[in-house]
Amino acid sequence: MPKRIRTHAPKRAPKDYRPPSWHERQAEAQRRRDNPSSWSAAYAKAREIRSGERWKNHRLMMLARFPMCQCNECKGERLPATCVHHIKPLAQYPELAYTDSNTVPLFECCHDRIHAEIKKGDRTGNQFSHFREETSE
Ligand SMILES: [Zn+2]
Ligand SMILES: [Zn+2]
Repeated sequence: MPKRIRTHAPKRAPKDYRPPSWHERQAEAQRRRDNPSSWSAAYAKAREIRSGERWKNHRLMMLARFPMCQCNECKGERLPATCVHHIKPLAQYPELAYTDSNTVPLFECCHDRIHAEIKKGDRTGNQFSHFREETSE
C-alpha cells in the first residue's frame, strides 16, 4: 500500500500556537519587502515599471500601432483602445514588460472583463489569440 502523502497542514493548530503579535507581523512584512524574490517586492517592481518613462513610451507606441481594442471580441474593429494590458502579469514577468506580443491594447470595459475572467481562473491567455496573430513575427 503506498504511503499517504499529506498534502496540506493539519486543521487543528498545535497546542502551543499563539497568533503573531502586531510587531511580529510588521517585522514579517518588512522582511518580505526586503526580500527581492517575494511578492511585495514583485509588486513594487511592477509599480516602478508602470510609473516609468520607458513604460509610458511603450504604451503610447502600442496605442499608436493598435488604435482599436485587440480583444478577441473586438478584433481591432469595434472599440477604441484606451489602455495596454500585460497578458503575462507584470509582477510575475517583469522581463516581458515591454514585449509587443505581451502588451495588448484594449478598451477599458474589455480590460475589466478580461480581468474578471482571469479572477475566475482563466489564465490561458487564449483571450488574445487574435492579437497574438497580429504581433507574431
Ligand atoms: Zn474589446
Ligand atoms: Zn490588465
